[in-house]
Formats: sequence, structure tokens, C-alpha cells
Amino acid sequence: MIELRDTCLRKQLAAVPDFDRYATVDELAVAARQLAATHPDRTRLRHIGTSRLGEALECLTIRGGPRAAVVFALPHPNEPVGGLTAIHLATTLCQDEQLQPALGFTWHIVPCIDPDGTRLNEGWFAGPLTRGHYARNFYRPAYDEQVEWTFPVSYKRRRFDRAPGSTTTCHSPSRSCMACCTRSPTAWGCRWT
Ligand SMILES: [Zn+2]
Repeated sequence: MIELRDTCLRKQLAAVPDFDRYATVDELAVAARQLAATHPDRTRLRHIGTSRLGEALECLTIRGGPRAAVVFALPHPNEPVGGLTAIHLATTLCQDEQLQPALGFTWHIVPCIDPDGTRLNEGWFAGPLTRGHYARNFYRPAYDEQVEWTFPVSYKRRRFDRAPGSTTTCHSPSRSCMACCTRSPTAWGCRWT
């Protein structure tokens, strides 16, 4: 069994293509739409929400087994490898006839969960990948504005269930906010129960 998984993993790793830059919000949206158009028998693309700046949030569902898996990329919009990973996963699931039934999941893939923040990073996606260029084009929301901190989840005595606040911003959205993030831990979207 381990050998079988190992072989499958090695095959999947070998199939990961090379990329010379990260995908933009628009490119991720186009890739998801192309997959949905190419594989209408097994996929469904649907609107699941709207970002605070009015961009559509789309989810590509790839039908498979009875269990459900949710994958969303770019909850930290300065980590764009997630977008490429989500699209590669979706492409693999659509194209590999054996993999999808073997895994037993229906997949719900959101290639970009924070288009507003991701667009503010796009200036460095094509390089040059230097610290200076990255720093000048970097954006990361404060904790209370990050998507994953408000994804509804319960863990021990904590519950994360509040939508991002709109009045607690402590930085200019055009600048890096590393410093202010560390100063506002009480603004996280969680509460004690
Ligand atoms: Zn992260």
C-alpha cells in the first residue's frame, strides 16, 4: 500500500510543471473558467461571494467521491504559490481519470480567496525576485482582515466565527503592514467560549 502511494506521489510530483512567474487574479479566474468549460461533465463553477472591493469569489467543484474537500488559495495574498497549486490540483483532478476515483473526494477549489489583497501584490509576481522589489510591492492584511482568521471553526475553547471587521484597519492598504499586524493581536476574529 505504501509502495503504491509512493509511486502515485512520485508520478504526481514529476508532473508539476515549471513556472517562471506567479499567476495574477485574472489569470487564476481564467484558468478556473477554462477547466469548467473543458470538463462540463465533472465540474461546476459557481459564485460563492464577493470581496470587500467587489470582486467575485468563485469556487470550482470537481465531482468525485462522497467525501468533501475544500481548498482555498491565497488567504495570505503575498503567498501566490497557492494559486498555482490550486489550479494545478484542479487540472490534475480533471485530467487524471484514475486519481479522482482513487481519492474518493468531491473537491471545492477556490483559486483566489482574497483578490483584493492579491492584486496589491501583483507588482512582484513576475519578478525580479529580489528583496527590494518584493518589499516595494508587498501587501499583507492585518490579522483581523485575513480570510483564514474568520473561516468558521471551533478549536478547544476558541471559536472563530466573525466576518472581517471594516473599521479596525490600522494601516494604509497600499503599504506593508508587517509591523502593525504584530501590534494588533486583540483584533483577531476569534473569541473565547
Ligand atoms: Zn500563509
